[in-house]
Amino acid sequence: MNLNLVVDKTHRFDAIVVGSGMTGGMAAKELTEKGLNVLMIERGREVKHIEDYDTALKAPWEFAHRGKVPVHSAEELWANNRFGTLANEETGPFFTNDKQNPYIEKRPFDWIRAYHTGGKSMHWGRQSYRWNRQDFEANAKEGLGVDWPIRYEDLAPWYTHAEKFVGINGHKDNLEVLPDGFFLPAMPMYSPERHFTEMMKKKLNRPIIIGRTANLTKPQPWHTALGRATCQYRNKCARGCPYGAVYSSLSGAIPAATKTKRLSMLHDTIVTEVLVDEKSQKAKGVRVINQNTMEVSEYFASILFLNAGSMNTAALLLNSKSSRFQNGLGNDSDQVGRNIMDHHLGVGANATVEGFEDDIVFGQRPNALYIPRFRNWGADKQPNYLRGFGYQGGASRSDWKRGAGMDGFGANFKKEMTQPGTWNIGFGGFGEVLPNPNNRMYLDPEKKDKWGIPMIVFDAAFGENEIAMRKDIASSAAEMLEAAGFKNITTYNRPEVHLGLGIHEMGTARMGKDPKTSVLNKHNQLHACKNVFVTDGAAMASSSCVNPSLTYMALTARAADFAVTELKKKNL
Ligand SMILES: Cc1cc2nc3c(=O)[nH]c(=O)nc-3n(C[C@H](O)[C@H](O)[C@H](O)COP(=O)(O)OP(=O)(O)OC[C@H]3O[C@@H](n4cnc5c(N)ncnc54)[C@H](O)[C@@H]3O)c2cc1C
Ligand code: SF4
Repeated sequence: MNLNLVVDKTHRFDAIVVGSGMTGGMAAKELTEKGLNVLMIERGREVKHIEDYDTALKAPWEFAHRGKVPVHSAEELWANNRFGTLANEETGPFFTNDKQNPYIEKRPFDWIRAYHTGGKSMHWGRQSYRWNRQDFEANAKEGLGVDWPIRYEDLAPWYTHAEKFVGINGHKDNLEVLPDGFFLPAMPMYSPERHFTEMMKKKLNRPIIIGRTANLTKPQPWHTALGRATCQYRNKCARGCPYGAVYSSLSGAIPAATKTKRLSMLHDTIVTEVLVDEKSQKAKGVRVINQNTMEVSEYFASILFLNAGSMNTAALLLNSKSSRFQNGLGNDSDQVGRNIMDHHLGVGANATVEGFEDDIVFGQRPNALYIPRFRNWGADKQPNYLRGFGYQGGASRSDWKRGAGMDGFGANFKKEMTQPGTWNIGFGGFGEVLPNPNNRMYLDPEKKDKWGIPMIVFDAAFGENEIAMRKDIASSAAEMLEAAGFKNITTYNRPEVHLGLGIHEMGTARMGKDPKTSVLNKHNQLHACKNVFVTDGAAMASSSCVNPSLTYMALTARAADFAVTELKKKNL
């Protein structure tokens, strides 16, 4: 490591935000809009909104391998592609090269990363749901992990705040299990989905809803003011949206923060350590290394927001050692890096649908159906496992690509391929993972990456609760498809799924009431170092079964509001 430190008075800011992804973006927006001068530090390359969405408008035949995963990419992005084809030709540029950024697996962990401006907000699936009241209470009721130091009511106004800014479409469904929020007009269901919804209500008394997603169906003035426009129903969101209709840090939070003229950004700059002032025992700044030049520098601020993604945030805390924090910053409880949770997936059922041929779908809806949790909810009590799961999926009609696997040639064959094929329907479960201190990551004491930073070791796996739940996810999906009268039902429960693949990894610096058993307090402050805030998924004390990013953003906005108030009172 080059120890030629660059220290300069121009390196001082009111706040430093580490990471430019979903939560870093929100932190920077909130802090700058409240008057703070903010430095956002991003380890990856700069991606410019619209300008750098190289694959956004490409047709299938413009990709050398028709959009699939080329062999060299499968090797370099091995964690992304171990299970499927996540980092393919269409989206690959927005995933991290695993070969160049290795990690150690004591037990297998599918770590999907996005090191560039916007982080994983660049290719998220946009499904956005609030947690319900029980989600915040279950740990205490069941004596698992630690009790959340907040309840639904503490976060409700901040959910609304985030929903308005992001722009989430959906119905007000009036369900306790899935609280309503501020919604733009919902997307439509297809006719087999409407049939499925009616049958589930009639036969199983189970509500099915259209998904709630962060695509602008009706932009509001504050969206258009940032250059965001209406969704065109192309379903190519993960390539980057040239209309700004999909929410990402690049389309929303960073432009909003930039507008204040109080945001500075550094790219290619890895934060390696939080610096602590020995006298005050407060954080005073960060040490960074440029990923290309290897130049080491330091930046200073009154408050720090750590938003590097749950695993990298924990790694940063563990690597920040001082005479006071010999086990890593804020790690008096030894909980930093522990309690890794995620959502387990790769389990569900599919079927074919007869009829509904007259329903021709125009455009490609970037959304799915959502089946809210029904297990261990209300009167339902499962003997074999705690908590529950939701399903995402829906109906789709096969297109001209089906011709690749069919016999035939000539004019009639071509004509047939211009017609839509049959309908299929399927649902995959997203199951809650319980907190377990033995599911953990830590820093290898000897092995370092090419920047001299200790490598992350993962040692985590699903437990009995998750394995029992998976069986029910598959059989319940089949039961519903059968009840709806669909045909050729097949279930799947893929054994090669590991923690991480849900890409909802969380829990490595949990919130809690007691500093002896948790890392953060109810305001996302480190118990032991109050001017450091952690508001990414690391903060989670349990995982619910709904997609987490909306909750992370709501927590971030809430913590930023508190931080600025405290800073103004000179309490930080
Ligand atoms: C394919 C896919 C589908 C998804 N679908 C959904 C969905 O439908 N709904 C949902 O809620 N969530 C979804 N997610 C998850 C969602 O993307 C994440 O929850 C969210 O992005 C996490 O936000 P974050 O800020 O914690 O991390 P990120 O968005 O990953 O941002 C972290 C940033 O920090 C940077 N960084 C890391 N370490 C350092 C360091 N040491 N120094 C400086 N910078 C650093 C990274 O480069 C990155 O830019 C999906 C994710 C993927 C990949
Ligand atoms: S489907 Fe909508 S949000 Fe997605 S890329 Fe197309 S226009 Fe953008």
